[in-house]
Amino acid sequence: MNKNIRVLEKRKKIALIAHDNKKKDLIEWAVHNKTALSKHSLVATGTTGKLIEEALDQPVIKLLSGPLGGDQQIGAMIATGDIDIIFFFFDPMEAQPHDSDVKALLRLAVAWNLPMACDRSTADFLMTSRFMQEEYSYELPNYTHYLNRKL
Ligand code: PGA
Repeated sequence: MNKNIRVLEKRKKIALIAHDNKKKDLIEWAVHNKTALSKHSLVATGTTGKLIEEALDQPVIKLLSGPLGGDQQIGAMIATGDIDIIFFFFDPMEAQPHDSDVKALLRLAVAWNLPMACDRSTADFLMTSRFMQEEYSYELPNYTHYLNRKL
């Protein structure tokens, strides 16, 4: 059976998202990792992207604000292979108006076996992984069975 391999280049396509109560955390973390992040391309939901761009003085592709469709844009980019890694600091203590979008995004990241950090310590582990500076290949989940199901 054909294996479907995804290759992540040295320069990763990184997605950044933080809920309002977690934005300070993500910005602090990003500033701490400024040099490392400058080696990759960054995409983010609208407000997070604006703050990261200002804090890092590095261009960030800014999508719509999360609750206005930005989370769904990131989800679509995960599915089309346009994002390699995601740092998503979501708020575990407060319901969001776009909870369904958040859930969809988390589900797609897992469905596509995407490296994802949702808190600072995991973000530190991911960011210091040697795979951040190297090409990295992994096998995508095989959905052939699902796609060819008899209906
Ligand atoms: P924001 O969206 O960066 O536009 O605030 C984040 C989110 O998904 O809540």
